[in-house]
Amino acid sequence: MTERYKERVKKLRGIAVSPGVIIGKARLVDRSRVKILYQYLVSEQQVWGEVERFKEALGAAKEQIAGIKNKMPEQLRKHAFILDTHLMILEDSMFCNATIQTILSEKINAEWALKKSVQNIDKLFAQIDDRYIKERIVDVEYVAERVLRCLAGKEQVSLSEINERVIIVAHELSPADTSSINIGKVMGFITDVGGRTSHAAIMAQSLKIPAVVGLETVTHHVQDGTLLIVDGYAGEVIIDPDDEEIILYQEKQIQREAYESGIIRLSHLAAETVDGHRIAVRANIELLEEVVAAKDHGAEGIGLYRTEYHYLRSASLPAEEDLFEDYREVAEIIAPAPVTIRTLDLGGDRVSSGHVPAKETNPALGLRAIRFCLKEVGLFKSQLRAILRASAFGKVQLMFPMISGVQELLDSRAILEEVMSELDREGRDYDRHVRVGVMVEVPSAVAVADILAKYVDFFSIGTNDLIQYALAIDRVNEHVAYMYQPFHPAILRMIKQVVEAGKKAGIDVALCGEMAGDPLCTCILLGLGIEEFSLNTVGIPIIKKIIRTLSLEECRKDLEKILELDTATRVRDVVKAKMKPLLTDLHHQGLITSYNNNVDRRAFQHA
Ligand code: PEP
Ligand code: MG
Repeated sequence: MTERYKERVKKLRGIAVSPGVIIGKARLVDRSRVKILYQYLVSEQQVWGEVERFKEALGAAKEQIAGIKNKMPEQLRKHAFILDTHLMILEDSMFCNATIQTILSEKINAEWALKKSVQNIDKLFAQIDDRYIKERIVDVEYVAERVLRCLAGKEQVSLSEINERVIIVAHELSPADTSSINIGKVMGFITDVGGRTSHAAIMAQSLKIPAVVGLETVTHHVQDGTLLIVDGYAGEVIIDPDDEEIILYQEKQIQREAYESGIIRLSHLAAETVDGHRIAVRANIELLEEVVAAKDHGAEGIGLYRTEYHYLRSASLPAEEDLFEDYREVAEIIAPAPVTIRTLDLGGDRVSSGHVPAKETNPALGLRAIRFCLKEVGLFKSQLRAILRASAFGKVQLMFPMISGVQELLDSRAILEEVMSELDREGRDYDRHVRVGVMVEVPSAVAVADILAKYVDFFSIGTNDLIQYALAIDRVNEHVAYMYQPFHPAILRMIKQVVEAGKKAGIDVALCGEMAGDPLCTCILLGLGIEEFSLNTVGIPIIKKIIRTLSLEECRKDLEKILELDTATRVRDVVKAKMKPLLTDLHHQGLITSYNNNVDRRAFQHA
């Protein structure tokens, strides 16, 4: 990459994982790996000296991690278990004893011996069928890297030592990194890698500091001290902004805060169109901790509880009891409104930065979501038990992701029945009439929506995946992000088909993809007959406000014309023209950008 090219990069887009806007100086955190050289030890004395050196490094690493854990800020205490896992790795015989044995038997330096131990553990993990245990190799690598740094006498800059107000810029942040963050000093962080469920993302939310991850190459374009604007709402990072941009952002931020608080004050008003049609607006959440905020933003229930976090965050499978407690709490907090708990949707891009993706050539088309659960029946049953048990404490609905046809649904329902019988035998309380729905997000499910509708109580259209699979574009590939087109006539027709099938069968049809939160899409979705929108919490007040300004009758009429248009661009132009007066206001406040925000990982923008 040439210097000239570096200079041209002015703005990067990534995944907004924690909201807020900050302007500050970058602190580049170097987490490049320690280089390991092979060394043969000639004398017995050298060999024993090496063992001692390794033991000292282990001790130092232990002390460092224990220190980080002790000083962990209160807000992050609930994540301390990750550091306990790291301490356990430091005591594990495959990690310590095996390395010592290799030093002694092969007469080689500690670094090389440790590298061999990690390779052996990696091989062993790779053979294990349980993908969660397999993925823990990342933690072994974090710990090994720390020991290697201790061996090299290289101080790993701890984030706790950062004493200036800075924005952390890193390729990746380990759990130990984020756990040792100096609250009050670190304004926010941005990373090359990571997703919505990466450790860094979760920690940023807990700390309530803005963060953008998945920026891919931000560490290449930023140096220590570079001035940055980080927009944790839009997932944007502006590198080396000029005075005008800084002033613009500061003003935007002030206006945004004022406007947002105004909108939030109105968020409890019902989302009723001007011609009197009531629309349900619910929240998409990933964590129990988000439920209260969802309620505060006017959510009339949880329309999509993504349940992957519990499975991604720890080395072992979550216990049924822990899942039950979590789901029960969500159900109780949101009651009497409903919570739709979606069963596990692992696979595809849904792997945290702390986990190695399963090695599939085509993960989005691989063993993902319901396919994975139907294979791992034990795991599936344990989650279903937890969901059903929680149904005794609120209004719980259950939803299967990635259903591609009727057989898959019948297989899933059969397992659900088995679980119900188990609970009956055990005399446990649960809602025998729990409403069961499917996500419609695979084109084949759209094609057979009329048949699927006979077997479920509701549909929830997942446009994120529906667009991916219908238009054959990888939703996390920035090279094809421009093709992520919610307004593509094919997508509009598919939604129409699903709504019509649902209505004919008398079942509810919701929409929970990012389209539901895009103000440009609201009138189209109303025209298409969507009566439940489920979206990210922060967008709820805006979408409710937009719904309150629209007439359903008019949206229906507009839709008739829109459905005659032949390209996504034409649809977008028509919608923009219609929504202009309202959107100009929202645009001006920086509360919306464009429908391109729907892409999960955004393409680069060069100044
Ligand atoms: C979707 O696919 O639209 C959806 C809501 O599910 P997820 O983004 O979790 O795949
Ligand atoms: Mg999906």
